[in-house]
Amino acid sequence: MQITEIYKSLQGESTHAGLPCVFVRLTGCNLRCSWCDSEYTFTGGRRMASEDVFDEVKRLSPHGGLVEITGGEPMLQERELVPFMELLVDAGYKVLIETSGERPLARVPKSVIKIVDVKCPHSGEADTFDLANLDALWSDDEVKFVLSDRVDYEFARDFVTRHGLAQRVNAVLFSPAFRKDATGARDSSHCLLDPQELADWMLADDVPARLGLQIHKFIWDPAVKGV
Ligand code: SF4
Repeated sequence: MQITEIYKSLQGESTHAGLPCVFVRLTGCNLRCSWCDSEYTFTGGRRMASEDVFDEVKRLSPHGGLVEITGGEPMLQERELVPFMELLVDAGYKVLIETSGERPLARVPKSVIKIVDVKCPHSGEADTFDLANLDALWSDDEVKFVLSDRVDYEFARDFVTRHGLAQRVNAVLFSPAFRKDATGARDSSHCLLDPQELADWMLADDVPARLGLQIHKFIWDPAVKGV
């Protein structure tokens, strides 16, 4: 697999937020979201055998625990990634995969929890989520919308209703987008959408979703990578 980085930190943005987690960040992405904070994954990285990636995960977290497969878009490396995720599950790890849902998700093992980041209009990558992937969602999975304004919010709200998402998955997450050049203050001043405004909208519409913040950007400087 082509790997950008492997590191241990706290999971930052799902119902698992705050838990220790080993991140396996794969290189390459076929989208170009306007607020992407992972552009350094688009190229480069290093070629690693799955066994070597597994050894590094074991070194960082020898007694099991949480492993998140992320990117970039990890499903671009599906052929090698699917058996690797099965290896992790068989070894007793709880595995999350973060994906845009642009690639088919049917081959992701059922015991792997998918966190599907459906792109909203102002990401610049609207309509890239493959609706056929709705049938690949299980009750443990999560669907996330990263929002930069009211237009994104209304898109997400209506998508949740239209597809009955709250009944399909464990959690629907609405998360304010962060400025990609954010650095310095570890607070919500870097959010493109004020979390308080988002909270007001969600309460007014009684949206069956939870407001999520990227907690790693409130713990460490938002510009720091590998945390
Ligand atoms: S899918 Fe993720 S890694 Fe790819 S451009 Fe969008 S935010 Fe960045």
